[in-house]
Amino acid sequence: MSEHLLGPVKQVYRWIEASERWVDREAINLYAGTNRQSSAVRRAMQTTLNARPSLGDPGDKYETGLEYSDRIETWTCDRIRTVFSARWVEHRVLSGSMANLYALMATTKPGDTVYAMPSAAAGHATHHQEGAAGLYGLHVENIPLVPGTHLINWPQWQEEVAQLHPRLIILGSSLPLLPVDVAKAREIADAVKAYLMYDAAHVAGLVAAGRFQQPLQQGAHLMTMSTYKTLGGPAGGLVVTNDGDLAQRIHAIAYPGLTANFDMARVAGLGIACHELEVFGQAYADQCLRNAARLAEELVARNIPVWRPDGEHSEQITESHLVAIDASNYGGGTRAARRAEASYVLFSGIPLPIPEVAQDYNGIRLGVQEITRLGMHEAEMAQVADFIDKALNAPERAEKTRREVREFRREFQTVQFGFHVDED
Ligand SMILES: *Cc1c(COP(=O)(O)O)cnc(C)c1O
Repeated sequence: MSEHLLGPVKQVYRWIEASERWVDREAINLYAGTNRQSSAVRRAMQTTLNARPSLGDPGDKYETGLEYSDRIETWTCDRIRTVFSARWVEHRVLSGSMANLYALMATTKPGDTVYAMPSAAAGHATHHQEGAAGLYGLHVENIPLVPGTHLINWPQWQEEVAQLHPRLIILGSSLPLLPVDVAKAREIADAVKAYLMYDAAHVAGLVAAGRFQQPLQQGAHLMTMSTYKTLGGPAGGLVVTNDGDLAQRIHAIAYPGLTANFDMARVAGLGIACHELEVFGQAYADQCLRNAARLAEELVARNIPVWRPDGEHSEQITESHLVAIDASNYGGGTRAARRAEASYVLFSGIPLPIPEVAQDYNGIRLGVQEITRLGMHEAEMAQVADFIDKALNAPERAEKTRREVREFRREFQTVQFGFHVDED
């Protein structure tokens, strides 16, 4: 192959390298919905399994030549069942969003009413009109909240549910700072024979480690999730349940329904990521929770307006890996994030249920899962808070902050809480 034909390919490789250098090695990445995978997970994903078709269930595939591929699939499903204490799993799911679509299709029919966390409280698009729920023809009602908080207004909700007879209640959001009372929501669901689903996209790794609420054990009929956020695996989705009827329906929606062949390299990587959670999950999740709590304290000490999900007079800030900031003073969360990017501090905007900042998310969402996996402890959170402070409040010194961030990041390059099979 002549050299010049490889030009565009080399360009792509240079972009990949540049992205990896900046995002993985130099910046402080506090974006909540991401993570770094161990070299063991990455190694499994970079194999030719990623283009080997595999239709159906292990042991009963349409194609031949899948003996070892089937073993991987079975092993991975065992790992998933173990970490989530679930009897059934559907792993043939391309994303958390598709997991939600599968769950909606298994529990409702177009025209049905469902309840979800309002968008202003970071209810996910797939739970709402603009996403999977609306596209599938569902009518979505907002779970009523106490104004300015993430607290559910239970008496009001109970009355509404009795009148509107939803078929499904969706708990979980893109800003799960505190656990929600799943058992109480189940009572509300039971009163009208509705299903209860918990979307654990962000907290899946903490749930797997037993360090966040256990929605299935607390009464959710099914739980969906993304696999690349706190879980630390490849991009993808999962549905888990202890309800055999639901499991059968979801299984049929996956195959032959919506997923024919799927990426077995992803499944191998996912199995290894779940095995890592079996081995290192508790230490990882504990450190995430301690780091988030300390980061919140350090931000408060710097007069950064940390948002409290139980109301401004509450002590509570977070029981997960996340911290939210009221971004009203920073021109909204998205603009703050764009400004902070120049300082190599990465995060995103998020809606908070407080008065809107025009045309923008009014909050900032920070997640400590990635910096925790890179080896940062409570002691480093003061430094991280300083960088956030500078990125938010001193954009004019972005170039200087960026150099300081790069220097600080040098010591935190190795992915912890995972297996290593080559240099990482
Ligand atoms: C991220 C997220 C999803 C979507 O997951 P993808 O894997 O990105 O499709 C679903 N629900 C919630 C609450 C999320 O935060």
